[in-house]
Parts: sequence; structure tokens; C-alpha cells
Amino acid sequence: MSRTILVTGGGTGIGRAVVRHFAHQGDTVFLTGRRLAPLTATADETGAKPLVCDHTDPSHLAALLAALPGRIDVLINNAGGNTDIGADQEPDGLDATAALTAYATRFRANLDANLVSAALTTYAVADRLAGGGAVVHIGSIAADQGAGSYGAAKAGLAAWNLDLAGELGARDITANVVSPGYIADTEFFRDVLTAERREQLVAATAVGRAGVPDDVAGAVAFLCSPAARHITGQVLNVNGGSHMTR
Ligand code: NDP
Repeated sequence: MSRTILVTGGGTGIGRAVVRHFAHQGDTVFLTGRRLAPLTATADETGAKPLVCDHTDPSHLAALLAALPGRIDVLINNAGGNTDIGADQEPDGLDATAALTAYATRFRANLDANLVSAALTTYAVADRLAGGGAVVHIGSIAADQGAGSYGAAKAGLAAWNLDLAGELGARDITANVVSPGYIADTEFFRDVLTAERREQLVAATAVGRAGVPDDVAGAVAFLCSPAARHITGQVLNVNGGSHMTR
């Protein structure tokens, strides 16, 4: 049976691979992001429906609701990224209030991008989620291995999901986290990793290779499949064994 799927951040990288998977199996897929160009490219390729939305902005989510159907079977909270990458550090010479304000702004940006965005989106569509459906958040190995406010946000996502899984479970909806390790060839790390750091990340896996977006999409697809109906409140690592070998 065809289902209705919402994939946030579905225009690029991991989200795009997830969109491809569901579209290929005949589901009706809505994908979101802040930039129109990647959304249109993915929509043209897959037949999915593009909607511009910044998931940190309540007014954007209200507009998104108006464009979505009344029933959603699967929500994939994939939008996110490390907002510290490329961001300016607090400059020297600020007084204490200014320095702390700048630090708080930078810290909150990661919480907003990776935790608040997923919670807001879930809250927005919760009433429309159908029994028998699934919610999957894209977490990160950074939740367990440290990465400042980004790692804290992804750890918070897994912690908050326990509460969500309890609430949605009463309606026969599962809620899980897929936690990737280093996934190559997405915008997340493109142009920021040195060749040496890439080699370190690959060496830290047990399987000797970086992950690709389809590796994550496969795990997401499983958690949304009938085979996973009794799995909820879990974190599924997709990291080639990096959590063991780092
Ligand atoms: P990408 O940068 O390609 O994907 C992130 C997507 O999210 C983009 O399409 C971006 O589109 C969208 N996005 C970001 N912020 C928002 C927002 N506020 N509202 C709407 N859309 C947003 O990288 P990945 O595919 O690698 O990342 C996908 C997820 O996987 C992220 O949550 C990331 O933290 C996680 N992850 C990635 C890893 C990796 O190694 N690549 C490892 C572990 C986790 P736009 O900019 O147009 O809004």
C-alpha cells in the first residue's frame, strides 16, 4: 500500500537518498529544505513534492502544515548539520556579557538546527501521524563521541525520542533514531575535511570504508517497514563500527 512520507532536508545527501528509496517503492513523498534548487532537482528526479521550509521557524512550519495532506504515515527528521562548521568564534576583547551572549547564540544555533527543529516538526504534524506509522530522526555518532553543542543536540534528540516513543506508542506509531558515523559525499563535510582527517575517519571504522547516504537510507527504510513494528525508542548505529574502534 502506498504511504505518505515527509522527509525534512530531503534535497541533498542522506535526505535525498531517503526520498529516492520511498519514491522508488511508490510512496507519496514530500521533501523540505530552505533552498529551492536542491529540492527541485530531487523532485524532478524522483517525482517527490518539494516544499520550502526552515524547520527552526514556527511560522514556516505553520505554512508547511497548510501544504501537507491530513494523513502522514512516516516522518523522517533529517534536516540538520553542525552550525559550528564555518562559524566565527567569539572575537577576543569582548566584555563578559558580550562574550557570553555570542557563545550562547552559537551554542543555541546547533540546538535549534538539530533538536528544536525535529521536536517542532514532530509537534506540528503529530495529530496527522497515522497508526501503524513511524518517526525516524537522524542523529549522529557525535552524540556519543563529543562534538560540542552539535553532539549535545544529537544526544538530546535521542533522549527526547524516548519520551516521544512512549507518547506515540499509544497510537501504534514507532519512534527511533538512526545514528550515522562518517558519511562521505554529502554537503555536511564537503569542502571542510582535510584528506588526512578523511583518512582518520575511515581508519576509525571496523569495515575500512566511509558510509554513503544509501547506507543510512537502508536503515531508515528498515525502521519504517513492517519488519520493525515492535522496535521503538531505539538508536540504530550506522557507522561501520566506528563506535568500537575510535
Ligand atoms: P546535508 O548538508 O547534505 O543535508 C542536510 C539537509 O538539511 C540539507 O538538505 C539542508 O538543506 C537541510 N537543512 C538544514 N537545516 C535546515 C533547516 N533549518 N530547515 C530545513 N532544512 C534544513 O548533509 P547530510 O545529508 O550529511 O546530513 C543529513 C543529516 O545527517 C543531518 O541531520 C546531519 O547532522 C546528519 N549526519 C550526517 C553525517 C555525515 O557524516 N554526513 C554524520 C552523522 C549525522 P538547506 O540548506 O537547503 O536547508
